[in-house]
Amino acid sequence: MTYDYDDTNIFARILRGEIPNKTVLETDHTLAFEDIRPQAPVHVLVIPKGRYVSYDHFAREAGAEEIVDFVRTVGEVCRITGVALDGGQGCRTISNAGAHGVQEVPHMHVHVLGGRVLGRMLEPAD
Ligand code: 5GP
Repeated sequence: MTYDYDDTNIFARILRGEIPNKTVLETDHTLAFEDIRPQAPVHVLVIPKGRYVSYDHFAREAGAEEIVDFVRTVGEVCRITGVALDGGQGCRTISNAGAHGVQEVPHMHVHVLGGRVLGRMLEPAD
């Protein structure tokens, strides 16, 4: 089995510069930007620049350099936004995948959410 990546997805278009974004941090392999519909005072999306559909896809097929860059960028986003635990109040990192994960955009991303108490991790499905 292989992963199908759709080059028309909105994050691919952001990476190509076709749609503007509010960048928090950019590295060689990773882009972090503010979510357009924030669900908390801090709501940043961290995406690899490579063509990965989901976290499992990225974890299986990305190179070590991309993975280290991505994870370090998540850490930097936590520091920049003030939610890291070396002084901040914490956060939640989430990566939705596929139908059961209710993933809206089929390009691998991690949400960094914080700035308020976020409540329980999962609510019952609608
Ligand atoms: P998912 O449900 O796939 O995990 O989350 C996708 C996220 O992308 C949502 O939180 C949504 O608000 C955000 N999003 C969708 N379109 C855009 C866009 O054009 N720009 C930005 N910055 N965020 C977007």
